[in-house]
Amino acid sequence: MNTKLLALGTMAFDAIETPFGKTGKILGGCATYIGLAASQFKVDCGLVSVVGEDFDEAYISLLKSKGLDLTGVEIIKGEKTFFWSGKYHNDLNTRTTLDTQLNVLTKFKPIVPEHYKDASMILLGNLDPNLQLSVLEQLKQPKLVVMDTMNFWIEGYRGKLDEVIAKVDILSINDEEARQISGTHSLVEAAKIIQNMGPNYVIIKKGEHGALLFHGTQIFCVPGLPLEEVFDPTGAGDSFIGGFIGFLTQNQTYSFEAMKSAMVVGSAMASFTVQQFGTKALESLTVKQLYQRIEAFKALTEFEIEIT
Ligand code: AMP
Repeated sequence: MNTKLLALGTMAFDAIETPFGKTGKILGGCATYIGLAASQFKVDCGLVSVVGEDFDEAYISLLKSKGLDLTGVEIIKGEKTFFWSGKYHNDLNTRTTLDTQLNVLTKFKPIVPEHYKDASMILLGNLDPNLQLSVLEQLKQPKLVVMDTMNFWIEGYRGKLDEVIAKVDILSINDEEARQISGTHSLVEAAKIIQNMGPNYVIIKKGEHGALLFHGTQIFCVPGLPLEEVFDPTGAGDSFIGGFIGFLTQNQTYSFEAMKSAMVVGSAMASFTVQQFGTKALESLTVKQLYQRIEAFKALTEFEIEIT
């Protein structure tokens, strides 16, 4: 059984501002969140990423202690780690990027380690589409390729982005990005347009309002779990997709039905992330807590109806 999962993405320093507080430079990056989420499952997960000389050894140790394989993480001497800073608005559903310093990313040439070239599941995390393509070209024959992206890459790298979208099985984006890519307001219409660009499945995340999965004429909807306290939505999308693909990799199933379960697992994962700043909640999360929360999702959406 091939439970190899390869995830490409940033390992970063983030500085976050929410209505509840402000952090200094803390651990962030999409590969970090994806890896921490995927490590909840019985998978052999390798990260392909890049950091600068300034990246804390303690963060590397943390990720390794979760069983993540960091052979594909390059450390560039004399360079600084990718830095992102963002400020969330009062609704916590929208944010403004205050600063993006690509730093090491401008020099990054991702190399897929030999032992991950045959990985069955691939997650092309939110990154320069040129890098996403370069990773795809190094792989043998993955069973499923999932891709994430964000406004930064949609705005500046559209041609290359479309080239990558054409090659993946699942595109996972938020509602604003879906509208930006498709040029239409209706999310159903947007999912149709995006499926015509290549992916057989489209996931559209809607922050606290849940997420949608589209496949042909089929649609599945998972709600956001109503939480009393939300501190920091950073990494929710990455935790969602890390949980989604971690679950599918462990179970080795790729059907629409399996993806429906994976959507709930991803949403449960993200619901933990938003309850603390940065990666804190994922760092201490246990499988037991995760499954309890999946049950909460079930209870929230289950109902019987009698029509007379
Ligand atoms: P999310 O909240 O799931 O969209 O992801 C937040 C993470 O994305 C943060 O930890 C950032 O370090 C990372 N990030 C922000 N901007 C970019 C970018 N342009 N490319 C790659 N990663 C980014």
